[in-house]
Amino acid sequence: MSTPTLFADLHAAHDWLAGHGLLPPERRSETLPTPHVRLLSGRTVVSFCSNNYLGLNHRAEVKAAAAQALHEHTHATSESRRLGGNLGLLEELESELAEFKKQPSALITATGLLANIAAVHGVLDAGELARRWYGSPAPDARPVVVYDELCHRSIQMGARQSSAERLRFRHNDAEHLADRLAAYKGRAILVVTEGVFSMDGDLADLPRLVEVCDAHGAVLMVDDAHGTGVYGADGSGTASHFGLVGRVPLQVATLSKAFGGMGGAVLGDERTIAMLRTFSSGYRFTSSLPAEQAAATIAALRILRSEPGIRDTLWANVRRLRSGLARLGLHPPGDGPIVPIHMGTPQAAAMFEELMLDTGYWCVAVTPPAVSPETCRIRLTVSAMHDQEQIDGLLERINDISPKIPAFAEIANKQTE
Ligand code: PMP
Repeated sequence: MSTPTLFADLHAAHDWLAGHGLLPPERRSETLPTPHVRLLSGRTVVSFCSNNYLGLNHRAEVKAAAAQALHEHTHATSESRRLGGNLGLLEELESELAEFKKQPSALITATGLLANIAAVHGVLDAGELARRWYGSPAPDARPVVVYDELCHRSIQMGARQSSAERLRFRHNDAEHLADRLAAYKGRAILVVTEGVFSMDGDLADLPRLVEVCDAHGAVLMVDDAHGTGVYGADGSGTASHFGLVGRVPLQVATLSKAFGGMGGAVLGDERTIAMLRTFSSGYRFTSSLPAEQAAATIAALRILRSEPGIRDTLWANVRRLRSGLARLGLHPPGDGPIVPIHMGTPQAAAMFEELMLDTGYWCVAVTPPAVSPETCRIRLTVSAMHDQEQIDGLLERINDISPKIPAFAEIANKQTE
C-alpha cells in the first residue's frame, strides 16, 4: 500500500526539518527542577527553564494536601463538572482563588490553555449559543475580538473557535488598539492581552489598555498566567501591580506556574462565569481537575498569601540576574522573572542551550512555532528556589560561552546601543 499523500507530505516536512537541525529532541529528565535537575544521562544540572516561580510544589504542606486528597478521592474525577465530576474541593478552590484575585467569581479548568479557550470563546459565543439552544434573546451583530499580536496560542485558539470577527493590535500598542476600535462603535467587543508576556517577559500597558477599553465600551480580558502569584504587593497579579483592581473585568490565571500545580482559572462576574459553565467547551466538554491538584493548589495559595517573604526572595533573584546580565551588556525586556536573550536564529539558540548544558546550566531555547524564526531566543526563568551562587554561576558561564556563538556578540552589542 502506498503512503497516503497527507503522510507523505508530513514525512517530507519532517525529513527536511531534521536535515536542517530544526527538530531538536525534547530533553528528558529524571527529576523536576528544585532547581537542580537530574537528566536521563545521569548528569545533574541547574535549571533556569521552569515557570514554577516560587517552588511551592516542593513544600511539605502542599505535598501532604495532595497526598491526602489522592488517598481520599484517587487521582481522577473521570467526568466533567456537570456530569458528576464536581467535587466540593473544586468549589472551595474557586472561592479562595476569586477572593485572592479580588474578582466576584471563578471557574477552574483542567489546564491554563483550556481556561483561555473557555474564557475567550465563552464570552464571545455563550449568548448566541443560548439563543440557538433555548431561543433566549441575543443581539444580531457578531461580536468582535481584538488581541495583542503576541498573545498566547490558547487565546488565539479561543478567538478562532468563536464566531466573532477577529483582529490583532500591535504588541502593547494601546494607540493602535484605539484606532482598531474606532471602526467598531456600538459593537460587543472583547480585547485580550497577557498581563506579563510569556515569551518576552514584558508587562502589558494595562493603565492605557483599561482607558482605551473604557472609552470604547470594550471588555478587557487579561491572561495573567505569569503575573498571578508574582506581581502586585499582595501577589494577586498585574491588576494589583498597576492599582487597577476592579478595573479588569475578565481574567485568566494558570495553576501551573507560581502555584506549582496544574489547571487554569477564569475569573469574572457571577453571571458571566455561570454562562461559561453552561456553554464553554474548554470547561463543559472535558474532565474536571483531579482532587489532588485542587487540594495542592489550595495549600499553595494559602502559603502564598501568608508568606510574602517567598516573593521577596524571587524578586531579589530577579534583580541579581538582570543586573548581572546588564554588566554583560545584555538588557532583556521586562523587569520580572522571564528573561529572554535574543539569538536571531534557531541554530544559534540551540547552540547556546547545548553549550550551557555542557557547563551544567539548562537554559531553554525557544523556537517556532512559539516565536518567529528570526526572534528565536533563550528564555531564562528565575525562581525563588535559586540561590545567589547559582545565579552568579549562570552569569559566568554565559560570559564564557558567548564568544563561541557568532550571533551572540553582535546581539549583545545591539542591546547596549
Ligand atoms: N497563558 C500563557 C501566557 C502561558 O504562558 C501558558 C503556558 N505556558 C498558558 C496560558 C497555558 O497554561 P497551562 O500550561 O497551565 O496550560
